[in-house]
Amino acid sequence: LQALVDSERDELSQTRDGCRVMVLVNSGLSPDADMAVNQGADGVGLYRTEIPFMLLDRFPSEQEQYQRYSEILSAFLPNNVCMRTLDVGGDKELSYFPIIEENPFLGWRGIRLTLDHPEIFLIQARAMYRAALETQNLSVMLPMISSIHEVIEAKKLLARAWKEVSDDLPECSMQQPKTGVMLEVPSLLYVLPELAKHVDFWSVGSNDLTQYLLAVDRNNLQVARLFDSFNPAVVRALSHIQQQSQACTIPVSICGEIAGDPLGCLLLLVLGYSELSMSSANISQVKYMIRRVRIDDLVLMREQILACETAEQIYQYLFQYIHELD
Ligand code: PEP
Ligand code: MG
Repeated sequence: LQALVDSERDELSQTRDGCRVMVLVNSGLSPDADMAVNQGADGVGLYRTEIPFMLLDRFPSEQEQYQRYSEILSAFLPNNVCMRTLDVGGDKELSYFPIIEENPFLGWRGIRLTLDHPEIFLIQARAMYRAALETQNLSVMLPMISSIHEVIEAKKLLARAWKEVSDDLPECSMQQPKTGVMLEVPSLLYVLPELAKHVDFWSVGSNDLTQYLLAVDRNNLQVARLFDSFNPAVVRALSHIQQQSQACTIPVSICGEIAGDPLGCLLLLVLGYSELSMSSANISQVKYMIRRVRIDDLVLMREQILACETAEQIYQYLFQYIHELD
């Protein structure tokens, strides 16, 4: 079976009834490694920029960041690369920038930290934009956003960085790359129409969204059994996001672990998602699944799944569907 699954890697990710599903990769490793393993991806749905920062013992310079981002952007041409601005704090530590907190997942994380240190944010944004001038396949995503105010403030900094970069090239006709946010803090779910006025796209971070909706530390083994993205509350939240994205005509993707899980990707197709971003190791199994299902059948399961009271019932529905596939 594994050989069969692996052989799917370079096939088009399309359902039996002809619906194209974008299969994107979550990345953060060196471009060579990424190139080697990600050939089956339709682009990068999440480039975790903090990973290279975590491998160093000091902040990388603008030039160092520029070089790395150029390599990544070129490696994935002509596909798009969605780079997330620095998401440190929580469980992601920088040895050279220690943060001591009682409650790190509710603390100084992601955009909160970079808005307090605009110099870190501006250097990174300039490095990304300089790299994108050559390849034009960048979009920028903001992590850990919990209010529209943060989006407005971060966009001011991004506009400043873009101006500095493009002013250096008087003949530059390129538009500023698109800006989006991670949907991973539950508060945003209640302000999506307003948020839509400020962003070009969004991507669901189901790892953190599950953690914050269920109040379950994503890394605490003691409560690991409660961390379940199939919990009906999470599933209804994912459905709400998909429906609101359609109503607001905002492109939505999902880049948490659920997208790379065989049953998880099925659930997302049922809910109407069509852009899934995952670790490269999961690409072939997800493609295998996509190429065996019919969207027409899956959408019929939507109401039943949304009516489920327990995660087990949702798993059962999806298992049953898989067993009935020919
Ligand atoms: C997420 O929270 O789902 C996500 C993709 O971001 P990270 O896992 O890097 O926090
Ligand atoms: Mg996250």
